Amino acid sequence: MTIQTHFPYISSKMFAENVAISDIAKQVGTPFYCYSNTAISQNFKGYQQAFSEQDTLICYAVKANSNQAVLSTLAKLGSGADVVSEGEIRRALAAGIPADKIVYSGVAKVESEIEYALNQGIFQFNVESEPELELISQIATRLNTTAAIAFRINPDVCANTHAKISTGKAENKFGVPISKARLAYKQAASLPNIKVQGVDVHIGSQLTQLAPFEEAYKRIAQLVTDLTEDGHEISVIDIGGGLGITYSDEVIPSKKEYAAVAKAQLGHLACKIIVEPGRSLLGNAGIIVSSVVLIKTGEERQFLMLDAGMNDLIRPSMYDAHHEILAVDTTNTAQKIYDVVGPVCETGDTFSKSRQVNESKSGDLIAIMSCGAYGAVMASTYNTRMLAPEVMVKDNEFAIVRARPTYEEVINADSVPSWV
Ligand SMILES: *Cc1c(COP(=O)(O)O)cnc(C)c1O
Repeated sequence: MTIQTHFPYISSKMFAENVAISDIAKQVGTPFYCYSNTAISQNFKGYQQAFSEQDTLICYAVKANSNQAVLSTLAKLGSGADVVSEGEIRRALAAGIPADKIVYSGVAKVESEIEYALNQGIFQFNVESEPELELISQIATRLNTTAAIAFRINPDVCANTHAKISTGKAENKFGVPISKARLAYKQAASLPNIKVQGVDVHIGSQLTQLAPFEEAYKRIAQLVTDLTEDGHEISVIDIGGGLGITYSDEVIPSKKEYAAVAKAQLGHLACKIIVEPGRSLLGNAGIIVSSVVLIKTGEERQFLMLDAGMNDLIRPSMYDAHHEILAVDTTNTAQKIYDVVGPVCETGDTFSKSRQVNESKSGDLIAIMSCGAYGAVMASTYNTRMLAPEVMVKDNEFAIVRARPTYEEVINADSVPSWV
């Protein structure tokens, strides 16, 4: 069984849409990421339908998965982009997402990035502090242009998610405290070449409940009312991203229920809504496929050793994240308990302890599920392991959308000074 509907078992063998995983593995080698184009499209259309009654721009959070094939898929469906660096602006533009659908978040934008964004004419800067606003104003003045801005407001609500991905509490580094917001907007209105147009909030990732969104949006609605009273013209409310996905047995509110919360709290303000989903578009549209290198019998445990490691998928070591781990071929139904580990020289390179998996042997394929978001983008070459290639599947076709680098490319990227 799999929680990812586009990775079904057909005659006990896992497929990505209509392509056998084993066929891709034969051609590409392991480990590799595999994305379902249909899943990405369906998830995006789910947002479009959910928000169809509100004037909404869906700005995909590029950091979740920034492969150009993913961005192009979403661009063709009309998506905008929520970006956090110049690199992501460049990726979004290259994939055909127009500048006027790009919002730029991030706590420490540097001068060259701000200049680039202004020259491209992006839709909105989500400004995270007063000093950042002053910098944007200076650069916009120098370039003789205007920066449209929203402040990212920290509403001081608890998102009930993992501490490393909670962003909307007063102690987090993100945004302007809601208590100081009216003052910040007053200052913004007085700065040259700044157009105040919106309010932005993003309280965290992998939220499994609607209540924190509801509380945050309620506070934002009050703020928008106050700001309007203060004479600001607020026409945009960016409600952030953060809706969770099912990794194992989490019950996630539907996109419709989520959209209804936004409408109930913010609908009366007649603003354009921006929503910035990342994980909920990509997470369950991708997996990583790995081979069993060997089974090692320790004194107390059996280790299922994979050729994918924490450098390929860091979520288990970094966030204690749970991912389903499934045999690609389940013809042999016998079950075993394994510690599922990677090859990297760190004890933290563990995908799961004491996990029940189909009995496996060297060479068998293993799929780690729900890896479409915050998987490939967080990969590294630690231990000089090559970045895993990425594959996209649509119906009965697949394509490599990022190839595995060669050892030469990786080694030749370094250089040795003559004085060494
Ligand atoms: C990461 C991020 C998102 C997307 O979060 P998901 O949990 O992937 O939906 C949206 N907006 C901002 C500002 C972010 O930093």
